Amino acid sequence: MRLSRRALVLAESATMRVHRRATELRAAGRDLVDFSAGLPDFPSPPAAVEAARRALLDGHTRYTAAAGLPDLRLALARRYGRDFGAPWGPDGAVVTVGAKAALYQLAQVLVDDGDEAVLPSPAWVSFEEQIRLAGGRPVLVPMSADDGFRIHAEPLISALGDRTRLVVVNSPCNPTGGRITEGDLRLLAEACASRGIVLLCDETYERFVYGDAVHASGAALAVDLPDTVVVVGSFSKTWSMTGWRLGWALGPVPLISKVIELQSHTTSNPTSFAMHGALAALEHGEPHVAAMRAELAVRRDLVTAALAKMPGVQCAPPGGAFYAFPHVADHFGPGRRDSVELAEHLLETAGVAVVPGVAFGAPDHLRLSFTCATSDVERGMDRLTRAFGG
Ligand code: PMP
Ligand code: GLU
Repeated sequence: MRLSRRALVLAESATMRVHRRATELRAAGRDLVDFSAGLPDFPSPPAAVEAARRALLDGHTRYTAAAGLPDLRLALARRYGRDFGAPWGPDGAVVTVGAKAALYQLAQVLVDDGDEAVLPSPAWVSFEEQIRLAGGRPVLVPMSADDGFRIHAEPLISALGDRTRLVVVNSPCNPTGGRITEGDLRLLAEACASRGIVLLCDETYERFVYGDAVHASGAALAVDLPDTVVVVGSFSKTWSMTGWRLGWALGPVPLISKVIELQSHTTSNPTSFAMHGALAALEHGEPHVAAMRAELAVRRDLVTAALAKMPGVQCAPPGGAFYAFPHVADHFGPGRRDSVELAEHLLETAGVAVVPGVAFGAPDHLRLSFTCATSDVERGMDRLTRAFGG
């Protein structure tokens, strides 16, 4: 057997790998605090569960249109119209098997061999891999820990070139929690539009911003720049529906139509009864989202306060999402020469699972996802405090 060149350069997602490892160790009886995957511990909204159950009982168990349930596409388009004045109708919306499939399919229909996609770094693990799978070259533009990894437009604009087809902005950012401001997003969107480059806003964490912060959405710019702005979102985090595997993309009709054509050959529609549940989440899930955000804000404060007291650890409070991304290079040494070995060491000796920063392009950092019960977050931070000699 000979594997394709694509397959040979492919490696398992680092976030998924650490989570798998932690799950296996726990199943084997190890006492672990799992800060690995971005996997909210909350139940899915009862309204969504009930709607999916009813859909199953009512026989909504067949293929739907490849683009997803028409009512859900309409509800998504209306939501962006209502909240941001976005111009999209249901034909500019596609429901996908998680945001992951939306992003993958967008890369496939936008990027040719040798094309470039520009993205701020650190970046979530799958962006680069998906761009490479499409034959493209990721161009990583470093952001700085000094201002909490705020995403700046200007260095991204400077990186645009003749081969750039796509700019991917994930705000709030996984893994840093860094955000882009409305002003910077507009500058970037206009620079992209004037060059015919697609600005892809991955807004998976849009609802998780803290304090007075307001999320800047690409949807608000699509009125003025309808041909080049695309927004991707997910039911996974906002409503704690990771296992349902539902996400979406909204954007210009010619682009979304291509994604739908591709989807008609790959996954076809996302799970029919799950989409009925998602529609209920969208329509009735708001109290659930607010309660989750409040709890995550408590954990964020707890985690940042604990990290601030640890010697040799620097971490700005994340502006959004539910990850802390501390600088830990002062703790590298024999047996823990880099973030991979340090993460391994913490797993083995402290019983805490974290993701090495190198997976996101930041080798001096670790990522902690505060998506386990608040009592576990406290336990985990106590363990890390001991491990780091605090
Ligand atoms: N984008 C970002 C930035 C993510 O962190 C994730 C992981 N949840 C995804 C997309 C994919 O999410 P899902 O496929 O679960 O909707
Ligand atoms: N996105 C989440 C994370 O970064 C879930 C795992 C994945 O899809 O990468 O942990």
